[in-house]
Amino acid sequence: MLAELSGLNEECGVFGIWGHDNAAQLAYYGLHALQHRGQEGAGICTVNDGHLLIEKGEGLVNDVFPGDRLGKLPGRGAIGHVRYTTEGGRAFENIQPLVFRSTTGSLALAMNGNVINATELKRHLEKQGSIFQTTSDTEVLAHLIKKSGSYPQTERIKKALSLLQGAFAFVMVTEDALIVAQDPSGIRPLSLGRLGDAWVVASETSAFDLIGAETVRSVEPGELLIINDEGLKSERFAPKARRGICSMEYIYFSRPDSDIDGINIHMARKRLGKRLAQEVTIDADVVTGVPDSSISAAIGYAEESGIPYEMGLIKNRYVGRTFIQPSQELRERGVKMKLSPVRQVVEGKRVVMIDDSIVRGTTSKRIVKMLRDAGAKEVHVAISAPPLIAPCFYGVDISTDSELIATGRSVDEIRELIGADSLSFLSTEGLVEAVGRPDTDPDCGHCLGCFTGKYPTDIYADTKLPHEKELV
Ligand code: SF4
Repeated sequence: MLAELSGLNEECGVFGIWGHDNAAQLAYYGLHALQHRGQEGAGICTVNDGHLLIEKGEGLVNDVFPGDRLGKLPGRGAIGHVRYTTEGGRAFENIQPLVFRSTTGSLALAMNGNVINATELKRHLEKQGSIFQTTSDTEVLAHLIKKSGSYPQTERIKKALSLLQGAFAFVMVTEDALIVAQDPSGIRPLSLGRLGDAWVVASETSAFDLIGAETVRSVEPGELLIINDEGLKSERFAPKARRGICSMEYIYFSRPDSDIDGINIHMARKRLGKRLAQEVTIDADVVTGVPDSSISAAIGYAEESGIPYEMGLIKNRYVGRTFIQPSQELRERGVKMKLSPVRQVVEGKRVVMIDDSIVRGTTSKRIVKMLRDAGAKEVHVAISAPPLIAPCFYGVDISTDSELIATGRSVDEIRELIGADSLSFLSTEGLVEAVGRPDTDPDCGHCLGCFTGKYPTDIYADTKLPHEKELV
């Protein structure tokens, strides 16, 4: 929750479906289940008789699709997107899916993630005559695919994907197929599901549950799926590399009812809380969690420590959307609007406050003060993750480490700044083991970049730029 209040945001959520009469309707429901991943824009593109139809706009899924707007999107294939802005800015034209029409075949794309070498590739493409309509990374892939002006065949898509560096989960529709791609390290989550005869893909499996689809598996790192009326074909555009799934998906971003690689998020967060209790002993009367994302970890901590869990903080659910817009001033004002302490729970008590992260520290400081003002005798802050010390290059808006309170400070210095009686963090080994992926080697399985400064990919653009002929 602190992450949300103090500005740690996911970039986007994607959804795709092929082979269902109500494709747009199901994409709309799917996007609702992904709404927490982005609230600034939403869009759906369908394929109807070989024509791409697009409706999109600013705001929540409900705002963008009022009344019968979905009625304008017939077709048996669709992709959808919810957007949070980091790279590329907030202009309307950056709202996805992006549609590219040409006489040789049309294409629509949507992406979750961040292409590290997008600027380098754009410069290269512009030199070769490309004109970009948006400032979004996503458009780069379309230009790479369409460079020769012919129909986007599988080999052309593979070639284009192989030039991208970073984290990307793409969904695309052409006039006759849904195409899905996951970056070679599998950093952002992307799952494949089945709804009757239709195939579905989504950033999170919560989208499948909402539409009654079954989860089949995760899309593999470096995998390209081509889904059309003949079925599903799996190919590779990159060799299978070590998986580097974003650890923050387990800690904070994903919904508790989602699974990543068969691991349920709520259960993983409970284990993080349990492990934290094994690593950190605190003499206290009550455990509380900052709603919503830290509640699972707080329950785990309470179970393991034997200290009772209570609802010591309440989230005000009806605060206007303004307070989740990414501006520092609004974020700071938003804290008071969003949370209230339950005096009867904390008054006269030694409180353990579990949270999933400390970003800038300003929010933690306010919540500690809020609990003290409500009568808490002691406030012990325990974080169900290691300290955030480094930027994210993969689509999460931690852009500079100077924003992060934990960079270059000791735990005691941070404790003093936030005004807590004690402060503790989970260890990196504790995080990896508690999440419980089968590949528990810290250098395998997870991206831990913002906790360790070590990333699963190169973080500086180093593209072997293609000669124009190589793209044809
Ligand atoms: S750097 Fe952090 S937030 Fe970014 S992908 Fe890695 S674990 Fe996730």
